[in-house]
Amino acid sequence: MKIIAIGQNYTEHNKELNSKHPTEPVVFMKPDSAILKNNKPFYLPDFSEDLHYETELIIKINRLGKHIAPNYAQRYFAEIGLGVDFTARDLQRRLKASGHPWEVAKAFDNSAVIGGFLPVAELGDIHQIEFRLDLNGVTVQQGNSSEMIFPIEELIAYTSRFFTLKIGDILFTGTPAGVGPVKVGDRLEGYIFDKKMFDFKIK
Ligand code: ZN
Repeated sequence: MKIIAIGQNYTEHNKELNSKHPTEPVVFMKPDSAILKNNKPFYLPDFSEDLHYETELIIKINRLGKHIAPNYAQRYFAEIGLGVDFTARDLQRRLKASGHPWEVAKAFDNSAVIGGFLPVAELGDIHQIEFRLDLNGVTVQQGNSSEMIFPIEELIAYTSRFFTLKIGDILFTGTPAGVGPVKVGDRLEGYIFDKKMFDFKIK
């Protein structure tokens, strides 16, 4: 399986990182070795002094597809969940400045936290999904899928022009504002509406 991730998909997050407003989705990938599941702890890697959380809605692809039209995109998933796109911000800053790819800052081991999923049928309107991250009991990120610059259907249409989507692939849809660093001992709890989707610690 593969993980396709989207950057810069929320205006307020782009402001906090001084990113430009994208004219098309910003896409990067993570390998399957990046997956961290089942609320296992995240061990801080030794190559970053500024390791950031980014809480994101994630889409589980359940059908093979290529060149998917936006109005058919909803046929390719039945569950939406919550994850964390861990980012070595210091490395990413250096890579961005030199115009290099982001992979070592974004696709390293355990950088893709995959929490729980909810059936779309239960979520209702996929353009009105509220989610949040609590860090040590304090809400630090709050988002709503209505704030995405490119909505889920457009992300599926765009990415499937380049990559065949396969059953089990995961799409990370970008993070809202409020990203920040983690340190040893932190507890991260993610929610979609009032349902807890992940709960794990930094070690
Ligand atoms: Zn992200």
